[in-house]
This record gives sequence, structure tokens and C-alpha cells, in this order.
Amino acid sequence: MTDILLISGGTLIDGTGADPRPNRGIAVEGNQIVALGDEAANLVNDLSREEVAEIDATGKTIMPGLIDSHLHCSFDDVQSNDELFFHRDPTLVALVAAQNLRKMLRAGVTSFVDPDTSHGIGPALRDAVNAGVVQGPRITTGVQALLTAVGGTAGRLIPDEGTVGYAQIVNTKDEIVQWVRRHIKYGADWIKLHATGSVPGRSGELLVWNREEIKAACQTAHELSVPVMAHCRGAQSVKVCAEEGVDLILHASFMDDDGLEAVISNGASICPTFTFLANLADFGVRVQASSGMEDIFRGEIEQTAKMIRKAYDNGVRILSGSESGFALTPYGHWHGRELEIFVNSLDLTPVEAITTATKNGAWAMQMEDQLGTIEKDKLADIIIVDSDPTEDIRVLNNKNEISTVIADGEVLNLSDLWPSHESLAGWKVGNWAGEVLTWDKAYK
Ligand SMILES: [Zn+2]
Repeated sequence: MTDILLISGGTLIDGTGADPRPNRGIAVEGNQIVALGDEAANLVNDLSREEVAEIDATGKTIMPGLIDSHLHCSFDDVQSNDELFFHRDPTLVALVAAQNLRKMLRAGVTSFVDPDTSHGIGPALRDAVNAGVVQGPRITTGVQALLTAVGGTAGRLIPDEGTVGYAQIVNTKDEIVQWVRRHIKYGADWIKLHATGSVPGRSGELLVWNREEIKAACQTAHELSVPVMAHCRGAQSVKVCAEEGVDLILHASFMDDDGLEAVISNGASICPTFTFLANLADFGVRVQASSGMEDIFRGEIEQTAKMIRKAYDNGVRILSGSESGFALTPYGHWHGRELEIFVNSLDLTPVEAITTATKNGAWAMQMEDQLGTIEKDKLADIIIVDSDPTEDIRVLNNKNEISTVIADGEVLNLSDLWPSHESLAGWKVGNWAGEVLTWDKAYK
């Protein structure tokens, strides 16, 4: 019976932002890091051989498990809004999500934050993981996103009232207060507002909540000690949300100086989530994604990145989020891509970028004192990477480079963590045709 897991050798990036250093020993007992360095060596010296399991990480890099602060675990790599809102049975959503969780572990993600879940399954899935019913990363989750009747990014698919998929429509301040409280009762760790939405015929996304409504949501959530995040793709939305108490701004696209000022003075954090845009811009053509948006998304990243860098320099907490759960961001493939973008577009050092997915992520998990760094008394969520992410940050986005995943103190069998399933009845939208059959196509 082994009592202690000792990780020896290799280079340690501890997640605090400190420079990489030679690892002089990490001792794990149960699910906790109990000693580092000389203390770990002394601890092990007092034990017999059978009581110690050792992982030799010589030549490799040891890091905290990745924390993905923005993904959608219940979307199953969805290809269209139609599929997402109208083709997903709630029970199957939960079962399929449980399978997908393992792919995230395989990619070194030991914790994630999910803003909103189809049919509100997030808290149930979180509780199932915590109780050991299913295997998965630690989950901090919202229930559903709160949308006004203008809708979010799904336009007229969103009904005028009621609920559909990951959305709960709120039409009055009273309904906002009511639904924030209900979501908290259902187990929400976060309240999610869809602050901006697309309106047919109008470019970009518009702020579709008024100031009083945002304020009501934030006040109600904060009274019950639950933080609020908001999807903000537009300058005005960033400013109004930060001023009215939103704790975490998702995207912050086109943030301007006034918005940044509001973010700084109200202590909000930002999860830019460039990955989806970058994947569409760089690789969309390879998966026949709707074309024509590549340059727009590249421009959005470039313009927003300048302001996010300014925010970073002003001490704003920046988080790494992958938006996994869509066809352009399937589970287990892209959780480290944001770090590459942070290095290339924000000019962060690799260690600074890693901090956004470790220490900073622990804040979004609401587990700052327990997670995100390799320090004594923290929970043992640790990955070992074959090569050096400070040489090439992209290795963190390649699961084949991740040779060991330790989650909650347990060394996982990585070959078990890439499940697949046959097609599910009614799960996908079938297209009648990929193109329109005109007379010319048939006969010319
Ligand atoms: Zn999202």
C-alpha cells in the first residue's frame, strides 16, 4: 500500500507566475500536495520502498492541471444552433456530456468553468463528478444563460419567453430577480448574462439589456454571494456590465478606453476566449465552416488583443478559455490554444500565459486557496508535459505531449480517456442537400 506519490526530476512551472525551476521533489498524499523540495525528500526517506510510488519526470515539465475558464460541456461539439436548441434530449445531453468530460482530462484539463448548460444540467453533472458517479474534471458551473427576448447569438430561434436549450428568457426586472434566485436554488456557482446579441440586419452584436436590468441581476446574485459573468461582444456592453457589477467579462470584444476604465475601477476580470474566432479564421476552411468571416474575426482578435494587453498591464486578471463544445472547438483538442494566442497576440511570456490557465483559473473556479498552483497543501491536480512549453507554448495544445495527468491525487490511465460513440437517434440536424439544385447545376 503506497502512502506517498513522489514526482522527482524535471522542470517545475508552479503556476504562480514564478520562473521555471528544477523540480526537487513533489510529494502527494491522498488528494493533496503535502511537501515540496527537501521536505518531500525527507518525508520519503522515512518510508519504506513499498510506501512510495515514484514518477520520474526527468527531461519533462511539471505543471498544475490546466483550468479552462470558459467551455460548454453539454454542447457535444455542436454544428448549428438548430441542433443545439431543438435536437437535444435532456437525459442524453447529460449522458453524452459525462462521456465528453473524459476527453478533457486526457488533454490535461483538470478543472473547468461552464457558464451555461443545455437544459441546465451543469449542477447535476458537477455533483455527479464530485460524488464519483462519473469521471471528469472539477466543474464550476452556471445553470442556463439569461437572455432578454431580443435573444443572444441565435436570433429568432430564441422564443419570446420561457426556456430553450441553454437559454432562459427574462422579460422584466421581476423575472430577472426571480430567475437569478431560481438558478442559485438549482445550484449555480455563477450567473451568466447574455449581455449582447445579434439582431437581423444589424452588424456586430448589440447590448440587449439595459443598465437597470444588469444591475438587478448583479445585486440579486451578489446578495446570495454568487458572482456574475456576462457575454460581451461590443464596447458599450463591457462598460455597462463592469459598472453595474459583473465580475467576469467574457470576450470583451472591441473594449474601448472607457470600458477598460470601468473594468479596472470595478475589479472585473476578463476571459477573452479568442480560440473560437482564431480557429474559424485559421482553420475554418478545412471543415467547410461558413466562409467570409475569416478576416472579420482576425480583425476582432487584433483590435481586442491590444486592449486586453492594456488591461493586463493595468493588473486586470486575464483568464484562459477555449469555448470548447462547438464543432470548431471540439473537446480535448483546443484547451491550450488560447495560450498560444496570448503569447502571439498579447505578447505574454509563456509563463505569464500559463498563469492565466492555472492560478487565475482557480479564481474562476472559486477555489483560489486550493487550486491552480503547485504549492504545499494545495489539491494535487498536476500534469507532466514531454517537452518545454516555454520553448514552444503550442505543446500544451497537443494532448500527445501530455504524458501524465494527476487529478485529485489520482494518476489517470490516459488510454481510457478517449471514448467515442455511435450516432444517436435525432441528435444531429440532417441537411437535405449541401447545395441548391438549380437547373444549371443539373443540366449544364
Ligand atoms: Zn461561450
